[in-house]
Amino acid sequence: MKVLVLNSGSSSVKYELWETSPEAIAANSDTLIKRGNVERVDDIDQALHTVFDDLGALSVDAVGHRIVHGGAKYTASVLVDAQVEKDIEDLGELAPLHNPHNLAGVRAAQRRLPSARHVAVFDTAFHHTLPQIAYAYGLPFEYLTERKIRRYGFHGISHRYVSWKFAELHGKSREQYRLITCHLGNGCSVCAIEYGKSIDTSMGFTPLEGLLMGTRAGDVDAGAILHLITQDRQSPLEVLKMLNSESGLKGLSGVSNDMRDVQKHAAAGEPRSQLSVDMFCYRVRKYIGAYLAAMDGADALIFTGGIGENSPEIRAQICSKTASLGISLDAAANTAKSGEPRQIGHGRVPVWVVPTQEELLIARDTLRCILNIPHE
Ligand code: ADP
Repeated sequence: MKVLVLNSGSSSVKYELWETSPEAIAANSDTLIKRGNVERVDDIDQALHTVFDDLGALSVDAVGHRIVHGGAKYTASVLVDAQVEKDIEDLGELAPLHNPHNLAGVRAAQRRLPSARHVAVFDTAFHHTLPQIAYAYGLPFEYLTERKIRRYGFHGISHRYVSWKFAELHGKSREQYRLITCHLGNGCSVCAIEYGKSIDTSMGFTPLEGLLMGTRAGDVDAGAILHLITQDRQSPLEVLKMLNSESGLKGLSGVSNDMRDVQKHAAAGEPRSQLSVDMFCYRVRKYIGAYLAAMDGADALIFTGGIGENSPEIRAQICSKTASLGISLDAAANTAKSGEPRQIGHGRVPVWVVPTQEELLIARDTLRCILNIPHE
């Protein structure tokens, strides 16, 4: 089956066309036929027009859509129907920066390919197993039950993929391990996966909580935000924009949201860039420590995402002062260049790099939903 995977965001539509089948999944031989990125989306129909121009004569049997927020309702990928569309629309209230664009992508793709099956794959779904102690905030209980103010967690597609891949490489299943997965890209999150289930993750009600990211602040005292609104008279929208788009590596360093640029400036002695790199690594290390405590240990620590896969310096800094936790890197393995999954630390908690393949997982889930076969 040829599955078009669409990631419809606010500024771009990323796509990949995969050929997959139950046999290909079993043999790990799914093939990527084409991939591309259409920048600056003003009109989603126009963007999809460009995607299909790129695809030329290639046929598409089904479409898998990356949807950021599936709320508490969507615990797995689903075939899109009118109810699913309505739910994604309603959840736009919780994810105003993402879900409306994702849904516009679904609708435009349906207009373009009315006879194809469309599947929604949610970034939140993998975290549906979070226990209440991890997903509740310390607000009055009605805020949880009535207002749905809770941790949802994001990047679930990536955490799910790398935990599956790690287990598969060992000829085992995810259910046999306690894993800490660090997705470090433009957005960053850490996940504690206890015997197959996500039991805690650093992103919360929105993808803003937790680690320092490219342009997002991560953890900030809610009181500081309220101070800006009540005392400094900044508008809530201004503050939202600042927290999402002008903070993180970009805002702290004043240089860039791109880790490579910030590292270059830090190496040249620029103190704000150095602070940004140090804070980035420190926060990841704190979350690793927290999740070791949450699971009473771990059987592996896994790095993924653009930074996690490609920066030996950042991995080394995160895994410094962690010897007592059983985490130590093998310097040669850490710096060796490779695009393959690989072990880079041989301490009590083995450390791995596992490149993520979110689009592949979306393509596979799309096939599984259509054929009604179980998801891994
Ligand atoms: P997204 O979250 O948008 O999918 P990626 O996972 O591609 O993003 O991660 C993008 C980040 O990865 C950027 O900050 C980029 O600087 C960083 N990155 C990519 N390659 C390297 C590298 N060799 N060293 C350090 N950072 C890198």
